[in-house]
Amino acid sequence: MRTIELLEEQLPSGRVRRDAETRRAHAHDYWAFEAIHDVAGNPTEPPPAVVFPESTAEVSKILEIADAQRTAIVPYGLGSGVCGAVRPGGEALVVDVSRMSALLDLNAEAGTARVQAGLNGAECERLLDERGFTLGHFPQSIAVSTVGGWIATRASGQLSTRYGNIEDLVLALEVVLPGGRVVNTFPAPRAATGPDLREIILGSEGTLGIVTEIGLKLSPKPAFKAGFAARLKSWDDGLEITRELLQTGWRPAVLRLYDGLEAQRNFNDWFPEREPLLLVMNQGSEVMHGALDLELAAARHACVSRGGEDLGDAPLQHWLGQRNHVPSWDDLLGNGLVVDTIEVSATWDRVGALYGKVTEAIASVPGVLVASGHTSHGYTTGVNIYFTFVGSSKEEKDQERLYSAAWAAAMEATIACGGSIAHHHGIGRIRRDFLPRELGDAGVEVLRSVKKALDPNGIMNPGVQL
Ligand SMILES: Cc1cc2nc3c(=O)[nH]c(=O)nc-3n(C[C@H](O)[C@H](O)[C@H](O)COP(=O)(O)OP(=O)(O)OC[C@H]3O[C@@H](n4cnc5c(N)ncnc54)[C@H](O)[C@@H]3O)c2cc1C
Repeated sequence: MRTIELLEEQLPSGRVRRDAETRRAHAHDYWAFEAIHDVAGNPTEPPPAVVFPESTAEVSKILEIADAQRTAIVPYGLGSGVCGAVRPGGEALVVDVSRMSALLDLNAEAGTARVQAGLNGAECERLLDERGFTLGHFPQSIAVSTVGGWIATRASGQLSTRYGNIEDLVLALEVVLPGGRVVNTFPAPRAATGPDLREIILGSEGTLGIVTEIGLKLSPKPAFKAGFAARLKSWDDGLEITRELLQTGWRPAVLRLYDGLEAQRNFNDWFPEREPLLLVMNQGSEVMHGALDLELAAARHACVSRGGEDLGDAPLQHWLGQRNHVPSWDDLLGNGLVVDTIEVSATWDRVGALYGKVTEAIASVPGVLVASGHTSHGYTTGVNIYFTFVGSSKEEKDQERLYSAAWAAAMEATIACGGSIAHHHGIGRIRRDFLPRELGDAGVEVLRSVKKALDPNGIMNPGVQL
């Protein structure tokens, strides 16, 4: 391919890789649908080459050449996305930014840092921790995802109720657009300079440009963590407790409500029977100790006054110990189990009905054994629900059918109940057909116009989102 030759000529040596192993490793992300085909021995076609830029100038050169040659480009962080947003096929080139992984600057007075987009999430947190700070962004995939990937997917961390989601933690962005133009947003604490350019890029899943640098808002490294778990009388009690605490103004870092099935599955030592569980944790600097003690007291009171039982902090320690476990698709599919998670959100007035309808809709799909849910990211106006389904099927085509039907059932029921179809994993390919139902015709037109303006030749991650 002419584009590959031009890149090899114009970039320093070693940037373009065409070996089979590198190409295979970049054929797709962590989407369960791809795993079904891999395990069955029918893997997706790999890209013809993978490019590893080491600077913004090199990313700019890549997008200049690719745009002129009309060659499709798929940006790549660490491939932990779960919605099929990375699938270059035999035509598109992958641009893997993982060699751009430096902490460029840390301003202790302003409480800000600037990093390159390919920085591994766990490494980012380690570098900040060494200097007395935290970003407060802890997705379960922290060790296998990049800061740039978090921006591109609008990610959420496990402590988001306290620190915010990734959009709350981004001070500024540097983005390279098709053709090679570099856009830098201004690092102000707030600005009234028209629409916020950061918001156009957040969640764009590589369809508009390549994020190269990120300014981050930091918090002081916490001195302590404290919390408890409560056994509750009902799931609805748990939703009410969560709502009351958040609407009162409390912001515990962790406020996770598990339904009976998930409590039993994940906390079996304390939950031999199916009963709902609320996990509460806060953390902070020494000077905040008093305020955070009050916060936990308020949460305990809310649970106990509804007949809940305080189980102390042992279940919390158990969760902290295993919370970043990354499951292996091979093990699950090898045993004939089709498993996935689906995260949606809804306002408080809708979320109770939504939980019931979505679990019922998924469970009614032939082959699905169980559907369950927990909440993990709360707001004054509502909460997310993270559904998990497990289905049984040994044959590739049937696994594919079961998987797609479970997703479609969850999306249809979410839309029918007035929820949003995606809380923090993005759209990719799995939600693509449902996105217009949430955005409406006018909304779709706006997004298409933005795409056309920034990427007139349509080279950025075709097939994803719209
Ligand atoms: C076990 C597991 C647990 C997870 N837990 C969470 C969780 O708690 N919270 C959460 O939010 N997500 C979670 N995820 C999903 C995933 O980790 C996130 O979507 C993550 O943000 C993806 O980052 P990545 O660097 O791996 O991106 P990739 O998978 O490489 O790419 C994801 C998308 O972003 C684009 N992209 C990547 N880098 C750039 C860039 N520099 N510029 C432009 N576009 C780019 C890609 O083209 C693609 O569209 C989990 C995934 C797994 C497998």
